[in-house]
Amino acid sequence: MSAAPETPAPLLINGEAATGHGPILDAIDPATGRVSARYQTATSADIEAAVKAARESFARGTWRDKKPHERATVLFEASRRIAEAAEVLAHLQMSQNGKTLKECRTQAKAAAATFRYFASVCETMEGDLTTPRGDYLSMTVYEPIGVVALITPWNSPLAMEAQKLAPALAAGNSVILKPSEITPGTGLALGRIVCEAGLPPGVLNVLNGTGLAVGDPLVRHKEIGMISFTGGTATGRAIARIAAERLIPVALELGGKSPHIVFADADLDRAVDGVFGGIFDALGQSCVAGSRLFVERPLYRSLVDRLIERANALMLGPPADPASGQGPLASFAHRERVEHYVELARADGGRILAGGARPEDASLSQGAYYRPTIIEGLANEARACREEIFGPVLCVLPFDHETDLIKQANDSAYGLAAGLWTRDISKAWRVARQLEAGTVWINTYRELSIATPFGGMKESGLGREKGRQGVRLYASTKSIYLSLAGGA
Ligand code: NAD
Repeated sequence: MSAAPETPAPLLINGEAATGHGPILDAIDPATGRVSARYQTATSADIEAAVKAARESFARGTWRDKKPHERATVLFEASRRIAEAAEVLAHLQMSQNGKTLKECRTQAKAAAATFRYFASVCETMEGDLTTPRGDYLSMTVYEPIGVVALITPWNSPLAMEAQKLAPALAAGNSVILKPSEITPGTGLALGRIVCEAGLPPGVLNVLNGTGLAVGDPLVRHKEIGMISFTGGTATGRAIARIAAERLIPVALELGGKSPHIVFADADLDRAVDGVFGGIFDALGQSCVAGSRLFVERPLYRSLVDRLIERANALMLGPPADPASGQGPLASFAHRERVEHYVELARADGGRILAGGARPEDASLSQGAYYRPTIIEGLANEARACREEIFGPVLCVLPFDHETDLIKQANDSAYGLAAGLWTRDISKAWRVARQLEAGTVWINTYRELSIATPFGGMKESGLGREKGRQGVRLYASTKSIYLSLAGGA
């Protein structure tokens, strides 16, 4: 294991390393509790410098005015370089949020693929010639907004950061990325790689620091023309209030409490795999985690027994060890939050069928480990069923009738994702159309593609990222009428 570097990593402003004058931020490895790396953070003066660099780069037009195929060339090169650095990036993420090396590798590759995808979109995107209702040509063009703030969470930073950087840059904006203070490393590393791929100075800036010290002033800054945020619903709501006051666009990817439904006619083996992975892959630290399980009563006992068996057998261990099924939670504070919810569930009459405790293995005592937990006996109204725990906690509830099931599944403030298992395709379609969720999986779960729009209904967010239209999230729509009358 490498020692934490003596010199904290600087910010990235105007294409260069820049001193951050705020307090030093320690990234803690949640598998060991030790400092894995140190980072400089931004003060208001540093934020000013980054905004100025971004605004001036936008005004110079060195990126904005490039032809889309020229921008695409840089994004393709960024993709190539990210793929080349995938192993380093994966280790970096693992050392800051404790996800298994396997998952971090997948996300590093996904970050490269995201840049490749949006490079292709950039190269092929078109404006529209709209149907005229008079003697004119009417066109709609999509123009960059200006300086865009991108604010990201800690759970899958490589994926989230690439998912915002690539389309925002493809659209021609200048950007400021504010990574989570739990995982300050990947955003900075990605930022450097993308700048070195050929971005003009000032187009991409990275400011580390806390939400209050750096995120909030960025959102309020008068030169920021749009905010793209992924994180918790409470933070998203606070950001949306400021954006509303400033009348600037905001894209919000927020929390979830996704219902996962198994009908009695489901393929049991596949459903067990899907439900188990849907909550315990990434230890529930996934916005789409299927954390409320509804099982049709005839299948309830056999399915829940299989899940208990799997949960008890899941091997927790160092995230770099291929033998570890899962690593620690992302931080010690987060483990306390998860524990608090399990206590609440107990107090509400929940029966803990698996987990509900830290592992007994003494070799894991220095890390933020927590056992996969299954709870039954709670009503859908209990706090553990209503609020996002964002941890390895599955609440199981039996159901008898489809109508009642849909009512319960939709009885949530959130609407990010949902899953259902059945062999009856008509039922699958009928139920999928009634679920209030931005993504519904049928006989699969947690399948995600950069080519498919993603986002939430209700308190899970506003706007859709990904897909070809994902670039338009970061663009202003302008309509132009060109008169054909008068001959001159
Ligand atoms: P968080 O809301 O605490 O923080 C997210 C980011 O916002 C961090 O960079 C943080 O520093 C910053 N921030 C905090 N307060 C701010 C403020 N007042 N103004 C501006 N920025 C501020 O979320 P988290 O704990 O880092 O991440 C977990 C949450 O993210 C969960 O709720 C999860 O569901 C959500 N999430 C959603 C998606 C999605 O696509 N819908 C994906 C991943 C995670």
